[in-house]
Amino acid sequence: MPIRLELGPRDIENGQVVLARRDTNEKSTAPIDNVVEAVKTLLDEIHENMFKQSHDFTYSHIVDCENMDEMKTALDNKNFVRTLWCGCRECEDKIKADLQATSRCMPFDQTPSDRLKAKKCVCCGKPANNLIYFARAY
Ligand SMILES: [Zn+2]
Repeated sequence: MPIRLELGPRDIENGQVVLARRDTNEKSTAPIDNVVEAVKTLLDEIHENMFKQSHDFTYSHIVDCENMDEMKTALDNKNFVRTLWCGCRECEDKIKADLQATSRCMPFDQTPSDRLKAKKCVCCGKPANNLIYFARAY
């Protein structure tokens, strides 16, 4: 329930309704005749706000890692790891065994950041072209 509508005797007298946002706890008023439009507008704002918070949280928790030590630190701090992987099963299994992290996805945009320009597998150090995300499950 993203919005709570409050309608007391005084609100009815004044021809208004109080809109209480559950995401920010802010309250505002709208004319009763306009309540449908006011709710639609507020729902759009709430959606944008929640999407931005989620987006910002996700992208602030992605860490580019070049080696297993960096990867361990990033995972211990509850981040997602973006790294390069050679594609061999042994490296994926070693990451899972040593760091308790599993591969999550390979992004459509395979352009590595400047930090990963060496294009070496995070695990074995051999040439790698697969940009990939690893994470732990909690
Ligand atoms: Zn490898």
